[in-house]
Amino acid sequence: MTTTLENQATTALNTVLSDMTVYDHEQVVFCQDKATGLKAIIAVHNTVCGPALGGTRMWNYTSEADAVTDVLRLSRGMTYKNALAGLNLGGGKAVIIGDSKTQKNEALFRRFGKFVNSLSGKYITAEDVGISPKDMTWVNMETNHVVGLPGKSGDPSPVTAFGVYTGMKACVKQQFGTDSLSGKKIAVQGVGHVGEYLVKHLTEEGAKVYISDINEEALKRVASTYKAEVVGLNEIYDLDIDVYAPCALGATLNDDTLSRLKCSIVAGAANNQLKQEDKHGKLVMDKGIIYAPDFMINAGGVINCYAEVASLTPGWALAKAEEIYTTTTNILKRSKESNIPTYAIANKLAEERIEALGKSECQCN
Ligand code: NAD
Repeated sequence: MTTTLENQATTALNTVLSDMTVYDHEQVVFCQDKATGLKAIIAVHNTVCGPALGGTRMWNYTSEADAVTDVLRLSRGMTYKNALAGLNLGGGKAVIIGDSKTQKNEALFRRFGKFVNSLSGKYITAEDVGISPKDMTWVNMETNHVVGLPGKSGDPSPVTAFGVYTGMKACVKQQFGTDSLSGKKIAVQGVGHVGEYLVKHLTEEGAKVYISDINEEALKRVASTYKAEVVGLNEIYDLDIDVYAPCALGATLNDDTLSRLKCSIVAGAANNQLKQEDKHGKLVMDKGIIYAPDFMINAGGVINCYAEVASLTPGWALAKAEEIYTTTTNILKRSKESNIPTYAIANKLAEERIEALGKSECQCN
């Protein structure tokens, strides 16, 4: 006779396995340790192009089911980002369930590091939301499969910002015939790690830059350093501008904002900018706005991590991030010719590379 617990476990397992099938995940590892209070999930989505690389996020999820959904979605996103950037990396991600302000300690991260190590390099981790370099140093005490540590490739934000800048120039070239940003009106939402470096590139090239942020201190500093104009958190969607660069939150391309935006280009670092990929990806195109797919244009960060994995130089990482210009140009061209939204073209290109490498792998076996 089966118990209630067995029934619940079977239902939960069936749900995860069916989600893994829908998203086509290779492996999901549930990690639990009573002594440290660790509850984590590592999702390896696809390793056809190489080991699965993606950061670890620490978040106080409202339910364990939410954590599963998040890690499945994020790890799949990494597969597409890494494949499209032409890196020899697959996609993975990890989440630690807990409050990053109160529940962090050395023992917890070292226990997590042991779980990462148990995958023998199939999953390589890095910092993500809620995780600091210090936390990753603890993880690194138990496993070498960590990148982006202080003293190594470090903060990826400057390379991410450079990639966004170069991809934005490719969009401007398509829309205005020249890729110069001089005199262009550009709104940067969020002047954190990536946003500030992006503002620097834009103002150096003579763009008129508007900024918004919930962090008043960062806002004041960036405004005075780069002569950028501060605008309200909500006002940013109504500005008469050329480019909107979301560098804070996801889902800012939605029913509300798309009826307000007056820009002709959206190019920014934030992940998951389209609230509903299919619906808003099509809407943005129908409005005549050029949308640079987020996982294409913000790949500079993971390029920087890959440089560390493959022992390549910072110069290599910058040159690789500069290729985002060509990738953007190709995707915009294909989108224009086929009238298919840019995000869908980018997805297809990533899938084509994975499929081609998957086939060559099959032939080798
Ligand atoms: P960050 O936390 O350093 O900066 C985000 C900034 O946005 C903060 O200053 C925050 O105060 C601000 N913000 C939050 N809510 C806001 C709102 N409603 N309006 C305006 N500003 C708001 O993060 P980051 O590392 O700069 O990353 C920015 C975005 O780019 C994130 O979505 C991140 O996932 C994505 N991204 C970052 C990298 C990287 O290398 N750091 C790589 C790829 C993607």
